[in-house]
Amino acid sequence: MSIAFLGLGNMGGPMAANLVKAGEKVTGYDPVAETRIAAEDNGVSIADSAVAAVVEANVVITMLPSGQHLLDCYRDIVPAAAPGTLFLDCSTIEVADARTAADLAAAAGHLALDAPVSGGVVGATAGTLTFMVGGPSAAFTAAERCLAQMGKKIVHCGETGAGQAAKICNNMILGISMIAVSEAFALGRRLGLTDQALFDVASTASGQCWALTTNCPVPGPVPASPANRDYTGGFASGLMLKDLRLAQAAAQAEGVRTELGRHAEELYTAFVGNDGPARDFSAIVTTLTTDGTP
Ligand code: NAD
Repeated sequence: MSIAFLGLGNMGGPMAANLVKAGEKVTGYDPVAETRIAAEDNGVSIADSAVAAVVEANVVITMLPSGQHLLDCYRDIVPAAAPGTLFLDCSTIEVADARTAADLAAAAGHLALDAPVSGGVVGATAGTLTFMVGGPSAAFTAAERCLAQMGKKIVHCGETGAGQAAKICNNMILGISMIAVSEAFALGRRLGLTDQALFDVASTASGQCWALTTNCPVPGPVPASPANRDYTGGFASGLMLKDLRLAQAAAQAEGVRTELGRHAEELYTAFVGNDGPARDFSAIVTTLTTDGTP
């Protein structure tokens, strides 16, 4: 494979590095100089532009901030790529934008998939991402080997847009469940329960979920959770808010009543407005009492 990798940021940088480690020829581009320098240190050849990166590639991977970034980028690069190129977009974007992007690529004779990821920077670095893939079976088959070099689980979710649909539905569950777990710890403390006692019960009872057992929002019960390091190094609240907004946009477009998803979006909007976008999304637990104490 000759791979063009566009978007060498927090996720794309380590993903491109894993492709190089697997022996692939990777040519990358990112408008931000530091990301290009870091990628070059990891063995990625740097092109002068996104268009220059794709001209010799037979696989083009994008890992960009938003649907608008992707569509702007595709309008430049799709005509420049050789017909039959495989386009893999791993960004998290709206389902509608994923469909528009895939249509642009298909109209130029390319194969295209939406392949957003779960696993964060840790998973991107370790090569253990989960890929949720939408698009034609032929494109999925062509992409499997490449995706396997960056992840450990690859699920073909359905037609174009199905990968993004799976991603935003999963993260809507996650946002809601993190708030639910956080409310339980805040209330438990006021009722005299220790965090450990509530954890010991809920983690083996019907309250069990990832937000509790892996990303526990209070320090102590799960030593590896971001709560133990002042909520650094996790899944940024700003990204959770982005995903909740994507879910609400989709729910409105499709006429689905996602009341808890909407409320979660409102709570994370307020949280990010006060706390900023950087800390792990479980830090929302610090805001739940009316007098502001934990
Ligand atoms: P990031 O901002 O660190 O990286 C995105 C990069 O894209 C930036 O460096 C930017 O300069 C670059 N870029 C923008 N336009 C470009 C273009 N036309 N050509 C080439 N590069 C361009 O963001 P990130 O954290 O790496 O996230 C990327 C995507 O992955 C987002 O859609 C995000 O929602 C999703 N995601 C992130 C995480 C996470 O934990 N960070 C987890 C899952 C999914």
